Amino acid sequence: MAAVILTRDVLSCDRLPAVCMCCGAPATLFLKQRLALRSPWVLMLAWFAGPLALLLFERGVARVALDVPLCPTHQHHWLKRRIFNIAAGIAWFWMFAGVIFLPSVLGKEHTASLWLGMTFLVVFWILAVLAMDAWMIGLGNIGPRGVTLRNVAPAFRDAVLDMASALRAGEHPKNSEAF
Ligand SMILES: [Zn+2]
Repeated sequence: MAAVILTRDVLSCDRLPAVCMCCGAPATLFLKQRLALRSPWVLMLAWFAGPLALLLFERGVARVALDVPLCPTHQHHWLKRRIFNIAAGIAWFWMFAGVIFLPSVLGKEHTASLWLGMTFLVVFWILAVLAMDAWMIGLGNIGPRGVTLRNVAPAFRDAVLDMASALRAGEHPKNSEAF
C-alpha cells in the first residue's frame, strides 16, 4: 500500500480521481466519509478511561470529510470497522457489568476464569484495533501542503499525482465537466 498527499489544489476539485482507494480498480461510487486523525493507542487509552473520556477525546479529534472513490468490492470498507466498534462498545459495557456482578453470581471459584476470559477479549480487541489501523485507509497528517492518506492503493496514488500535475499545468478543469 502507499501514502499520498491530497494537495489543496486536488482537494479544491469537485472529485478525486475515479480509482478505488482500496485496490486501484475503476471506482463506481463516491462514498462520503469523515476520516479522523487519531492514534490507535490514544484511542485505546480513551476507551480504557471510560465513556466520558472517549466522548471528550472524540470531540477533539481533527477530521476531514472526503468523497472516497470505491469499487463495488470495497464499498463497505468502513462498515466493518463501524460494526466492530459497536460490538466492542457493547462488549465493554457487559464486561464492566460482569466485573461488578458476575463474581457474586458465579461464586468465587469462577473469578479466575472470568478474568482470564476478559484478558483474552481485551488482548483480542487491542490486536484488532492495531490491525485495522495498520491495514485500513487512514488519515496520516493534516498539514499546510494538504491531507496525507495512508494505506491507499498505488494506482490511486498515481492517479492523484497525475491529477496534481495536470492541475499545475492548467490542463485539469476544477469542476466535474471533466467526468
Ligand atoms: Zn476496490
